[in-house]
Amino acid sequence: MNTVGPRGVYDEAKRFQEAITMAYHTYHGLETRMVRIFNTYGPRMRLNDGRVLPAFIGQALRGEDLTIFGKGNQTRSFCYVDDLIEGIYRLLKSDCSDPVNIGNPAEITIKQFAEEIVKLTGTKQKLVYKPLPQDDPMQRQPDITKAKKILKWQPKVSRAEGLKITYAYFKGLTAKELHEKDHNTFEGYVRK
Ligand code: UDP
Repeated sequence: MNTVGPRGVYDEAKRFQEAITMAYHTYHGLETRMVRIFNTYGPRMRLNDGRVLPAFIGQALRGEDLTIFGKGNQTRSFCYVDDLIEGIYRLLKSDCSDPVNIGNPAEITIKQFAEEIVKLTGTKQKLVYKPLPQDDPMQRQPDITKAKKILKWQPKVSRAEGLKITYAYFKGLTAKELHEKDHNTFEGYVRK
């Protein structure tokens, strides 16, 4: 972790909130839960927040080339929102006060992901390569052993299925919505 990089405040804030939550739990006896949410997607995501999935789908729908940052050999794992909600709900109902990873471990490189979006959308656009943002992680894949054991939870929605539903949503946006710029998020700020 680079504490003084552009993601430093974001990363440290996540760690701090777990530390303070546990302090409240042990010192004040407060009932607490900690969910570590990994990359999630689904209908009603903001199109221009800088995340890779809405970025690629938006580019395909606007007839723009898909921008791969770096070589595209970094990997991500995408969890469909319904699975995430079910995981969080089960954690809430459990008595586990330790942090629990909730995400989908199915891993894919960003280049392969771009190719999946090209296939899904039928776009004729190319994949173009842009510089990799500073401190962009090479891999993000949740280890969900704990969630499986304690919550009897694991994701049910495959990427193919989830992408189909999500693409149907984005296809329903108006031309105006498709072209709106929205950088009022952390990811949008870092990617700007
Ligand atoms: N990314 C990309 N093209 C884009 C937007 C993102 O190649 O137009 C890459 C980004 O560099 C990262 C990955 O896709 O390696 C996932 O980015 P996102 O911001 O969605 O999630 P995070 O990096 O926070 O896991």
